[in-house]
Amino acid sequence: MELSPLKILKDVYGYYRFRDRQEEIISAILNGRDAVVLMPTGGGKSICFQIPALCKPGFAVVFSPLIALMKDQVDALRLSGVQARYLNSTQTQSEQMEVVRELNEGKIKLLYLAPERVNDRFWDFLAPHKVSLFAIDEAHCISHWGHDFRPDYRILGEIKNQFPHVPIAAFTATADKKTREDILSNLNLHQPKIFVSSFNRPNIRYIIEDKKNSFSKLLDFLEGQTDESGIIYCLSRKSTEGLAVDLRNHGFKAMHYHAGLNQEKRGQVQDLFAKDEIKIIVATIAFGMGINKSNVRFVVHMDLPKNIESYYQETGRAGRDGLESTALLFYSYADVIKLKRFVEIDDNPEQSEIMLQKLDDLSKMCNFRVCRRKFILNYFDEKANDYCGNCDFCLNEFTEQEATIQAQMALSAVVRLRERFGISYVIDFLRGSASQKIKPFHREIPTFGVGEKWSQNQWYQVVKSLIQQNYLARDGGKYPVLKLTEKSGDILRGREKFYFYIKKEKVLTAVEDKPGELPFEKDLFERLRVLRKKLADEEGVPPFVVFSDKTLRDLATFQPQNLEEMLNISGFGQVKLQKYGRHFLDEVTSYTELHGKSSPTPLRKKVTSSQRKSTSPSDTLLETKRLIKAGLNTEEIAAERGLAESTVEKHLAYWLAQKEAPLDQFVNPEVIELIKNACQTHDILKLKPLKDYLGAKVSYRDLKFYRARSKGIAG
Ligand code: ADP
Ligand code: ZN
Repeated sequence: MELSPLKILKDVYGYYRFRDRQEEIISAILNGRDAVVLMPTGGGKSICFQIPALCKPGFAVVFSPLIALMKDQVDALRLSGVQARYLNSTQTQSEQMEVVRELNEGKIKLLYLAPERVNDRFWDFLAPHKVSLFAIDEAHCISHWGHDFRPDYRILGEIKNQFPHVPIAAFTATADKKTREDILSNLNLHQPKIFVSSFNRPNIRYIIEDKKNSFSKLLDFLEGQTDESGIIYCLSRKSTEGLAVDLRNHGFKAMHYHAGLNQEKRGQVQDLFAKDEIKIIVATIAFGMGINKSNVRFVVHMDLPKNIESYYQETGRAGRDGLESTALLFYSYADVIKLKRFVEIDDNPEQSEIMLQKLDDLSKMCNFRVCRRKFILNYFDEKANDYCGNCDFCLNEFTEQEATIQAQMALSAVVRLRERFGISYVIDFLRGSASQKIKPFHREIPTFGVGEKWSQNQWYQVVKSLIQQNYLARDGGKYPVLKLTEKSGDILRGREKFYFYIKKEKVLTAVEDKPGELPFEKDLFERLRVLRKKLADEEGVPPFVVFSDKTLRDLATFQPQNLEEMLNISGFGQVKLQKYGRHFLDEVTSYTELHGKSSPTPLRKKVTSSQRKSTSPSDTLLETKRLIKAGLNTEEIAAERGLAESTVEKHLAYWLAQKEAPLDQFVNPEVIELIKNACQTHDILKLKPLKDYLGAKVSYRDLKFYRARSKGIAG
């Protein structure tokens, strides 16, 4: 009897529904069809070949490029009771023999291999076996066009000749057409079914910030990340080292990583990161391939990436477990110029023209006043809504400011400078800069320095908006100069007014309540994390292999009280329930005995998406606001709402930051006065020194509320 895919999904993985096209893909493979699956990272590709392998007699052969990836997948499967094995060069002869023996005895359902092991002898070895399917992970490695071409992958074109009747399923997160065509032709697939998913990563919040004061902005951001894992990318090896030291000095567990480290050291750093022993990797782009860690909560770019493809790929390493994650990029025009120089060194002019174009597209993404997600998806030829609700553009409010006069000044400066100069020169001219760069005869022009009252940054905003709104154009590859457009005349002659937009400063990343997330007990989550780490160490695997953060989050949300309820938590299949259920249950119940059960939603057979909506955080925030207005304190609100007080405090911080709740309702006015005075000599963003200074009269809670109100930080 063939096992049903849905039953396997429940019993083995502990999941209750297939995601978008998973079911279709699985059934195509079960029907013997070849398939090509294009799905973004974190989309859930693995299940699409693992479940058919479990349904069919025989075993599946899975090709995967990296030993580390292979090991994690096999470890994870084995923890769920699936008979998976790999063969690779890290094993001893006798270990390999053991795998072969198990294969012969029919004890293996999935065999993972690197393509470099494939030769004629390998085909002979496979021939007598019943192979249920060939799965090719990271299939773009077969294409020259892919960013990660691996010559070994070419041999996989032989599969069809050797096993014409066994289905081949190829998987990749690289979507471009050329790569796709290469996969189809190089694998000799027979009338394959092609599945293309959306490349949207809805759980990644895209944020682009001005690079000015990036280090202190980074510290603010990290403070809101409480002990989560993340990757910080820098352009140079040296800056990765410097930044890692700076972060350690601020108490973060950070280490650097770049291609200059020897193999052993690199492996060590990766391993410590996978095992949650260091939380932050500060790296060049050498770090990434083979990072399977699903609980990377943030990716920061301190410097501009090369193009949108790299940006998408690098940020894509966040949030593979589907939980809310952040991609933060610090943008500066100086970085664009720097990267341009790199590109121009390239001695292939055709190639460098393409790279310049790509860099320009990235710079547009950073500068245009549109939804970042929409920009990215459109760039990859995918349609998107105008508003995603989860990027800095969509989450911020913008104020409109009229600046017709300034626009006229800028445009006439461009005219006066005969359309021969770039942005910084034009701005220096407007501001009457003393810089040596300014040509003496330009100083003689009467409008030199007409805009001295405005800062360089303000002028930059104006010029940038003029470009975005097509009143100015940037022209020329190497040293782009500003030129007028057809529309410029409308402003110059006063036929049109000019407006530009200013982001209302608001720190978004620290807001805990994010769309689509149910509130959970943070302290319980931390305790579960510790337990998971202990169990993972015993097993010798990374924690995310034991359970995903999503599973721990669900435990901390629903707080199951017995093993039966536990089975409803996403990620608890039968085997894991038996093996780990008791441990996690004890942790949860000992917590709830102490603190009471604060689950906002009764535990029921999996929460469906519509049920999630009914308890959306915005509703819960609004409800808290109503009770604040009614004059209740946080303890009373917590009791009234059946929430943990810590959750209510977060809601309150949010409303304080929005200036929608009175501070003196929650902090004694004398205490407010004390904090205010202390802030004359101390930085409110650094709570610990401030607390040490103020002593016992003032609590962290007071400080956080004060900070929320004064700085708009709701963390
Ligand atoms: P990919 O290989 O596409 O990057 P994975 O196969 O690693 O993605 O899946 C990403 C995460 O989503 C994993 O933690 C996986 O267990 C989980 N997942 C996959 N399918 C489902 C599903 N139907 N329901 C819940 N979680 C799923
Ligand atoms: Zn958006």
